[in-house]
Amino acid sequence: MSEKADVLIIGGGLMGAASAFFLRQRGLSVLLVEHDRIGQQASGVNFGNVRRHGRPAEQMELSNRAHEIWTKLPALVGEDCEFLRTGHLRVGYHEADEEALADYASSVRDFGLGLEILGRKALNERFSQVSEKVKVASFSPYCAHANPRITAPAFGRAAARLGAKIFEQTICESFGRAGADFEIHTRDGRRFQAATLLLTCGAWTGAMAAQFGETVPLAVRGPQMGVTEPMPYALKPVIGVFTEKLEQMIYLRQIKRGNVVFGGGGRGPASTATRRASVDPTITLNQFRQLRELVPALGRLRLIRVWSGVESYLPDDRPVMGESAAVPGLFYAFGFCGHGFQLGPGVGATMAELIATGRTSIPIAPYTIGRFGSGQGTERSSSRRLH
Ligand SMILES: Cc1cc2nc3c(=O)[nH]c(=O)nc-3n(C[C@H](O)[C@H](O)[C@H](O)COP(=O)(O)OP(=O)(O)OC[C@H]3O[C@@H](n4cnc5c(N)ncnc54)[C@H](O)[C@@H]3O)c2cc1C
Repeated sequence: MSEKADVLIIGGGLMGAASAFFLRQRGLSVLLVEHDRIGQQASGVNFGNVRRHGRPAEQMELSNRAHEIWTKLPALVGEDCEFLRTGHLRVGYHEADEEALADYASSVRDFGLGLEILGRKALNERFSQVSEKVKVASFSPYCAHANPRITAPAFGRAAARLGAKIFEQTICESFGRAGADFEIHTRDGRRFQAATLLLTCGAWTGAMAAQFGETVPLAVRGPQMGVTEPMPYALKPVIGVFTEKLEQMIYLRQIKRGNVVFGGGGRGPASTATRRASVDPTITLNQFRQLRELVPALGRLRLIRVWSGVESYLPDDRPVMGESAAVPGLFYAFGFCGHGFQLGPGVGATMAELIATGRTSIPIAPYTIGRFGSGQGTERSSSRRLH
């Protein structure tokens, strides 16, 4: 027996879960197949930055679409996902950073970020916890943070309430054809069919795209995270350092319970085969030094947990989104290069719009898989195994 729907989604991270939700809103029937539980991989373990600030102007329409959705989560999916609009402060240790921060602000002036450039005096008045070593900052009042552990599951539950059929702990093992439809075969012997196939398997999508003759130079790495014991809630905005020096890159956010979550300063090894990413302790030690540099009061806190997650990166720091260049009816959304959490709801809405109407109201041409020049290939023989 096989299950059949209009759209078959493989991969239930935030991209897959949000796509399922918005496809159901548009009235298409949806099957979603997820190896684990919804949102256990990158989407569930990320830093939680819901930031437009710092994204290139080219990505801003997609990011703004996501931003709109984030602000309406309770009405849309029935939960706020601990979305807190605290603002985002991007700080520089050199007075010369002001020019670059101001240039960035003018490059995104039309997109509603409301950026302010703050000198030392304004920092003292408004963000006095930040070290005196910080000389200048750019502040975006509308950026936010949220809890990644609960966000993709919230979209998954909302999609299921709208009628999406979600199959967790179900592993897509190979692709085939059933007449004009795509058919996938799962490890436990089930088959799922649809005329449209959407691959949202994050770091695992590279191997799948290759099965369809589309090879992408996807690198798999693990951003390094940590969380401290709680201290009184005092640091409202997410804070990140603006620098070219990898060892100085640190970002942090304090949650209302008081713990400080942080990341930055390099990526560790990650593997799609083991489905794990490791923590490199030398990066953790440096992160602690950088936390102290940035907010001296954090230097006395104890670290309670470190972790990483499997994320995929493309050489031009852009994701792949859109229809396959080789196989009609096949769509991709993957390779979010460490920036996909904020974009996720917007990616779901955009992929649903593309699949349902054949077009998108925001530009996604820069994200075509065809930019890697492998889209002329033909779909390889069906029923190739993925594992
Ligand atoms: C540690 C870390 C920190 C980050 N911090 C931020 C941040 O602060 N802000 C931000 O915007 N972005 C951040 N990101 C990036 C963001 O988390 C990702 O870009 C985004 O979550 C990717 O979502 P996804 O749905 O594409 O992939 P994933 O969440 O990885 O989901 C892919 C899913 O596909 C499933 N799958 C794979 N193979 C199969 C198969 N054969 N059959 C069935 N299912 C399969 C997997 O089990 C997985 O659940 C961070 C990432 C990491 C790892």
